[in-house]
Amino acid sequence: MIIRVPSEAPRYVPTEERFVLRYTMANDPVRMTSRELDALREMIKSGNEKRFYDWTKWQIERDYVMRCDRHECQQCKRRGRYRRATIVHHIKHLKDRPDLALCMYDPDTGERQLESVCKICHEENHPEWQRPIQNNPRFTTEERWD
Ligand SMILES: [Zn+2]
Ligand SMILES: [Zn+2]
Repeated sequence: MIIRVPSEAPRYVPTEERFVLRYTMANDPVRMTSRELDALREMIKSGNEKRFYDWTKWQIERDYVMRCDRHECQQCKRRGRYRRATIVHHIKHLKDRPDLALCMYDPDTGERQLESVCKICHEENHPEWQRPIQNNPRFTTEERWD
């Protein structure tokens, strides 16, 4: 039996497939199935997107990004200083681009999508999470709010 191997990649691939293919090429340790993406979209719709941070796949991806960045805050690094990173941040926010939730790089631009940051830089990235009242512990940003 002869298995035909196409000499070049098909020109047209459905978006979801293309995402999976490019994703695999980016060497991320895990990838999201379309079923999981649907579940994540539902969670966002109902305001429960923080449950995503409990997913094992997220924890694997998070650890991978941290290791790649050697636990160094990438935003501080760009400003020429060192701080230890404690959070992996979604540059395109999870709510806006759930399809990139487990992508270290945005497959369309090749730019970083997940990066390790310190708590201080992370709070600058999320002004929407600023505490309405200073020193109110109820509104302290949790580490897992990536
Ligand atoms: Zn920082
Ligand atoms: Zn973030």
